[in-house]
Amino acid sequence: MRIHFLGTGSASVTAERDNTSILVEAGANLILLDCGGNPAGKILRLGYDPCALDAIFLTHLHIDHCYGLPALLFHLFLQKRMRPLPVFFPEEEMDLLNQQLLSHGIGEDVRTYQLEKSAVGIVQETMIWETEHAAVYSGIARHSRATRAYRIIEKRTGRRMVFSGDTHPVNEMIALSRNVDVLIHEATYLESHAALATEYGHSTARQAGQIAENARAASLALVHFECPPGSSIQQYRNEAASEFRGTIYTPDDMTGIVL
Ligand SMILES: [Zn+2]
Ligand SMILES: [Zn+2]
Repeated sequence: MRIHFLGTGSASVTAERDNTSILVEAGANLILLDCGGNPAGKILRLGYDPCALDAIFLTHLHIDHCYGLPALLFHLFLQKRMRPLPVFFPEEEMDLLNQQLLSHGIGEDVRTYQLEKSAVGIVQETMIWETEHAAVYSGIARHSRATRAYRIIEKRTGRRMVFSGDTHPVNEMIALSRNVDVLIHEATYLESHAALATEYGHSTARQAGQIAENARAASLALVHFECPPGSSIQQYRNEAASEFRGTIYTPDDMTGIVL
């Protein structure tokens, strides 16, 4: 399993960090988790073909997690993609997703391929997509919009990863991430801004470390950094390490890990 961090920033982008979006190669499957920025351009830069995407999973429809979707879908049309493309998203957001796509001229049928809109209910550890190479499970998260977390299993190797999306720390994330090879958990804030994390449905790096420790995850990758002025990424790492004894990653944009 290969995980590529297309972006690692929060809604407030910086010169170094675009909005959080992750490409996962699981066996022969190529999966996109969230869709900020310009995913097609970044996927091409990594040497993959965007037309090879097998499925897209949106954690939620805050703009930093979904605004790149219409452009990606249009790119696939221009490249004459033929096979259907499933896009998973929280079921509460069907209207918003439809509005977003229609406002960009993207209909049910993107003329060359079928867009399979797949609404995900509020379900915990339920398999929502499966191929001969991989399986994806939905998990419950808690944020200021309807949101879902996802667990991906690569069948050949048994490697497992979880992506939390944006969330306040929740026990369901511990269950979803039990013994995973890597938990990719948002760490929007440092403990100095813990009140903001609670107010906006986000987590601190320390809270992400607690979730990973309680889940007995082998490793923790922090993403969705707010990076307020004067802070350093080392502070995020140190806070997580105060709770979590496994390997900690604080990835830069366009870097990756191999499990
Ligand atoms: Zn976000
Ligand atoms: Zn959000």
